Amino acid sequence: MQYDVIIIGSGPAGLAAGIYAARGGLNTIILERAIIGGQITSAHQVENYPGFPDAIEGFELTERMRQQAERFQAKFLDEEATAIGMEGLCKIVETREHKYRTKALILCTGAYPRRLNVPGEQRFTGRGVSYCATCDGALYRDKVVAVIGGGDSAVEEGIYLTHFARKVYIIHRRDELRAQKILQERAFQNPKIEFIWNSVVQEIHGSDKIEKLEIFNRVTQEISFLPVDGVFIYVGILPNNKLLESRINLDEAGFVYTDEFMHTNIPGVYAAGDIRHKVLRQVVTATSDGAIAAFSAEKWIRDNYEALEKTEQN
Ligand code: NAP
Repeated sequence: MQYDVIIIGSGPAGLAAGIYAARGGLNTIILERAIIGGQITSAHQVENYPGFPDAIEGFELTERMRQQAERFQAKFLDEEATAIGMEGLCKIVETREHKYRTKALILCTGAYPRRLNVPGEQRFTGRGVSYCATCDGALYRDKVVAVIGGGDSAVEEGIYLTHFARKVYIIHRRDELRAQKILQERAFQNPKIEFIWNSVVQEIHGSDKIEKLEIFNRVTQEISFLPVDGVFIYVGILPNNKLLESRINLDEAGFVYTDEFMHTNIPGVYAAGDIRHKVLRQVVTATSDGAIAAFSAEKWIRDNYEALEKTEQN
């Protein structure tokens, strides 16, 4: 059987693509190897997605999108895409269980947290080192934690951690944050947050659990030790592009180049959401990408397959 559209990944981009493709009458499946909803499911609050003036939990937002896609008969499969290939106009998506054929393919594989790559990080992951404040924050009630990074994630999750921890250090390698101003202001006003500027963590020390961070101040060149119970690492994201390398045009960081129609360099293959080379990674831009990708896929199918089917009939 050949599908009209296969969407790989079910974050907000994949879900929006699913809603638009299925609602447009295309026979659509969405493959997801982990949690439906993607990375944003671990955001305790999404404050800037239009339509939710009191904010909404990431999980709830994507759960609503899932229900909306299912309402239009998009089908979710709990399978990991392991390879993609081409057979003429047709795209082949392999999973461990099956081989699927599709007219158009929409890649919404997203991104994952960058590792700090310092000694102790791997050893203490799950035992004091975390990449998800929503998942692990409650373990640090009345404790002292450090957050590493200066972007939206570090500052937003640092603020969230103050609901549990008695003290939150935000350690940033420069003396100026990258995060949005509104988040910066909230963090500066929060009495539980203390910034450690111009500093990088060189090593995470401990025995059974984390005891202290070894910190290097890039201005004074001094090394100091900061006792903490936990450390949350938010130093950026990396693209989930293993499937795509060598076929699809990527930027130097590994994100997919598309045009404004979400078209990649391969006819009938689209990319949407965090996996794209883009300036603003937000739920609202991911859903917008997904909608455009589905719209473009529908048009591409009409222009190519319907023309081909007519030629075959004549
Ligand atoms: P990001 O914006 O890339 O920020 C990463 C931060 O980590 C930067 O401050 C960077 O420092 C620092 N960093 C990178 N490598 C480091 C290293 N090896 N050691 C120490 N620090 C390091 O990543 P993000 O905060 O995870 O956000 C990812 C995307 O999601 C962004 O587009 C962001 O806007 C979006 N997002 C939005 C929201 C929201 O709208 N509420 C929330 C979360 C995320 P420099 O500043 O010096 O480069």
